[in-house]
Amino acid sequence: MPSERRHALQPKLDGEDLALPAPGTTHHLHRLTGQFHEQSREALYRRSIEPRVRTETGLALSVASLIYAMFAISDYFYTGLTPEFFLLTTMRTLVVVSCLTLAVVIGRRGNDTPHVWLHALPLWILATGIILIVPLRPETLSTQVPAVVVATMAFYLLIPNLLPVAAVASLYLGIGFLVASVMAADAPAVVVMRTTLLLIMTNGVGFFTLLRLEKLQRKQFALLQEERVQNRQLVEEITHRRSLEAQLRRLAEQDALTGLDSRRHFMTRAEAMLRRSRHAQAPFCLFMIDVDHFKAINDTWGHDQGDRVLTAIAEACQRSLRPQDVIGRFGGEEFIVALPETHLKDARMVAERLRRQVSELTVMEAVPAHRLTVTIGIAGVRDEEADLDDLIQRADRALYAGKHGGRNRVVSHEGSEEAPSTQP
Ligand code: GH3
Ligand code: MG
Ligand code: MG
Repeated sequence: MPSERRHALQPKLDGEDLALPAPGTTHHLHRLTGQFHEQSREALYRRSIEPRVRTETGLALSVASLIYAMFAISDYFYTGLTPEFFLLTTMRTLVVVSCLTLAVVIGRRGNDTPHVWLHALPLWILATGIILIVPLRPETLSTQVPAVVVATMAFYLLIPNLLPVAAVASLYLGIGFLVASVMAADAPAVVVMRTTLLLIMTNGVGFFTLLRLEKLQRKQFALLQEERVQNRQLVEEITHRRSLEAQLRRLAEQDALTGLDSRRHFMTRAEAMLRRSRHAQAPFCLFMIDVDHFKAINDTWGHDQGDRVLTAIAEACQRSLRPQDVIGRFGGEEFIVALPETHLKDARMVAERLRRQVSELTVMEAVPAHRLTVTIGIAGVRDEEADLDDLIQRADRALYAGKHGGRNRVVSHEGSEEAPSTQP
């Protein structure tokens, strides 16, 4: 595969995709955190889920704060209007206010890189709030255990976050609760043991569920990214092929030197034109143009000058003919023109004007006095049977007659010859 082509097949990655390795690369995930080993990919993934994390964190924290606040009713039920109740209420208010503030801060951080501590902080505040209920309401320890279990599960599953953040906060809640149970509520050993086992189970279930979820989400993300890269490659490949096709078509249809139609393309277009003319019973003419003494130009001033002459004559043709006329390079220094909707009489006038314009060209700066001349043979459709080859042959014969007649002239196949305005 040529290097240029190989380059064209490489995906042009912009912005975020730059961090991606080539498609097909396996994406290694950390065994305990479920995160990508590759830091750039992990950052890309987090950026992609950031808007969702912000909304869900805000919602989860608001709901958690509401539930935590509602437990003030049970505080009143268990403690009545005692100093413990006011302490509990103050603590609950502090927890709720700080959690809601953090929810707003997280929601407003926009596209900033998410700070891990910002997401960890509300979990630690909530955990502390739950632990501190033990010394303030030690007699209700047994009813607090299920609340701690539910809070642990919620940390893992409901608050969208990184596994390490959820795991550390949950461990802090569990250990803190157990320590408080022993120190502030004088929990018997059997209760502590049962609670410990329950919390280990809860953490285990929460941890491995979230680990699976984190891994699955990242695998899905990696596959999606890979698919995108492959799609882009495919689009680039298609674009490349299309441009190659267009290039090939141009090469086949255009003459490289003059930009005129190639002989083959001219034949295709002129044949279609002739068919339409015949169908509409409209007149149709053909020019065969040959540069006079062109070999001498090449021999005297070189091929480069010869090429410039050919280009200048092609331009003169394009200037003096109508847009609907089709001009082709027939070969060497011969040009061919198809003129639809044109009677022979008008075609002669057009050819004469073109002949004159060519004779006024000053292509060779070194020899401004040198006059370029062309001889033009014309053939027109006489009956419905005439095909393009027939027309070309007749125009060629007229051209041949023009050359014999002294060049620099217009000859139509009927033999009527326009007198050249200047003799070569
Ligand atoms: P006549 O007046 O009878 O037409 O004579 P002529 O010299 O024009 O005709 P001839 O057929 O003898 O010579 C045509 C020359 O055109 C020969 C060839 O080398 C030259 N030629 C053909 N294609 C090209 C081209 O692309 N560039 C250049 N510079 N010369 C070309
Ligand atoms: Mg010739
Ligand atoms: Mg010639």
